[in-house]
Amino acid sequence: MTSSRAILVFGDQLNRAIGALSSARSGIDRVLFIESTEKLAAREWHPQRLHFYVSSMRHFAEELRHEGFTVDYERSSSFRTAITEYRRAHPGTEIIATEPNSFGARELLADLGVATVASNQFLLHHVGFADWVDARRAKGYKTFKLEDFYRHQRTMLGVLMDGDEPAGGRWNFDDENREPPPRDGHDRWSSPLIDDLDDLDRQVIDDTAVHAGRGSLPVGWWATSREGALKRLAHFIDSLLPQFGPHEDAMLADNWHLAHSLLSPYLNNGLLMADEVVRAAERAYREGRADIASVEGFIRQIIGWREYVWGLYWMWMPAYRDENALGADLDLPPAFATGETSMNCVGKVVEGINERSWAHHIQRLMILGNLALTAGVEPRQFTDWMSRVFIDAAEWVMVPNVVGMALFADGGRMATKPYASGGAYIDKMSDYCKGCRYDRKKRTGDDACPFTTLYWDFLDRHAATFGRNPRIATQVRSAQKLADIAEVRVRAREVKGLLREGRL
Ligand SMILES: Cc1cc2nc3c(=O)[nH]c(=O)nc-3n(C[C@H](O)[C@H](O)[C@H](O)COP(=O)(O)OP(=O)(O)OC[C@H]3O[C@@H](n4cnc5c(N)ncnc54)[C@H](O)[C@@H]3O)c2cc1C
Ligand code: SF4
Repeated sequence: MTSSRAILVFGDQLNRAIGALSSARSGIDRVLFIESTEKLAAREWHPQRLHFYVSSMRHFAEELRHEGFTVDYERSSSFRTAITEYRRAHPGTEIIATEPNSFGARELLADLGVATVASNQFLLHHVGFADWVDARRAKGYKTFKLEDFYRHQRTMLGVLMDGDEPAGGRWNFDDENREPPPRDGHDRWSSPLIDDLDDLDRQVIDDTAVHAGRGSLPVGWWATSREGALKRLAHFIDSLLPQFGPHEDAMLADNWHLAHSLLSPYLNNGLLMADEVVRAAERAYREGRADIASVEGFIRQIIGWREYVWGLYWMWMPAYRDENALGADLDLPPAFATGETSMNCVGKVVEGINERSWAHHIQRLMILGNLALTAGVEPRQFTDWMSRVFIDAAEWVMVPNVVGMALFADGGRMATKPYASGGAYIDKMSDYCKGCRYDRKKRTGDDACPFTTLYWDFLDRHAATFGRNPRIATQVRSAQKLADIAEVRVRAREVKGLLREGRL
């Protein structure tokens, strides 16, 4: 007998507590997963990214089977074909889904006539975010900055609050969380967990090999089940959260993870829910196991930044992903994909991505994003590359972080200044410059640091755009007053040519 309801679950909704699945009854409702060749073949994915997506979905399907659900795991040429064939095979069964997390998937479901229920995967539904923006506008505010949103979230969710006051007496401990890397003791942070691959994991490696691009095969850094994700959450809270804050922005050649949580993949595909992660961090503070600066710094990333970019994505899509306010038109330099470059910082970060499909926030923003911004890489190409290689990539988070934050391609709607810097910042926040053939202080000549050259050239090139920006106008004026600005322009053109040809 056919059941009357099949709950369609996307690969980034893998949790029993999400939307339609939260009220599903085993033995009564069916659950439908679709693994489409069209999606798997859409890009040359990093093997670990591809594996994480497929293996997590298959593991979750197994879990639901153990719970007693009839699970239909359809492998099909395309999503559309799968839905059409499923309807034919199960007449009378209504397919319902939880609102998908991407704009394209929502359009597709609407087109296919699949009904959706509201998603509770984020702490604030994006309609709630739009309401918050409207309320601020109605009160006469012209901006809706992260800090204001974050305080709203803290209050509304009752996170890290002592009555009406922020725990620890302050909303923000950022100043204590920007230390450069320590000179020694680079092994002070306990290593991330690594698990043996199970049979299902190994099967997925074989099944997806044909669609995998550059990068190392999975070795167990990334959990593909809820059990593995929960283990990693506990490991982070117990061993790393107490040290999360101080070196959040630091980069080290011999330590890829520092105190970062490495939880974004699970938060994004549903193996972990934001609420349980935030509550676990707050509990550690309340029980005296982690100090306020670290806990506040971590919680701000999740209830602040993560939810903020989610809200912006829905407010500004679909036009947002194509924005290119600075007219950037350089093709993606091969160094991003290959890591073959004489720039030590870029080489180290890309090597890490090839090995583990991951880099931390400052490496994404101030190495990869900074180079793409100052060299003028076309935003869509940069987004596309990042989407292929990062284990945690998802359009809703990638687009605002690339278009808004890293590349200033939205003309400053999200960030109040461009995140451009020369070699001096990278030298202060990392140990990359020591072994590099370039001189971070030089902006012209063959041994000039490409970041330093491109930084001054960028300020000069975009002086009309940034000359009145209070956060960067002084640097723009300094660029224009440089005695050697003409040589900087010439060297910057050379650098861009070399980058394009893969010779830098
Ligand atoms: C150019 C660029 C591209 C990015 N692309 C992605 C992406 O595709 N997927 C993704 O999840 N994050 C992305 N980020 C944000 C951030 O870099 C990652 O979330 C973070 O590095 C993941 O590592 P972690 O889990 O150890 O984070 P932690 O440092 O431990 O932070 C905790 C959590 O906070 C959230 N978070 C922190 N910063 C951000 C942010 N800026 N936006 C949204 N959430 C944030 C993440 O869920 C993260 O797991 C991008 C940032 C930049 C600058
Ligand atoms: S000198 Fe420049 S290119 Fe070399 S590591 Fe430092 S910032 Fe990177």
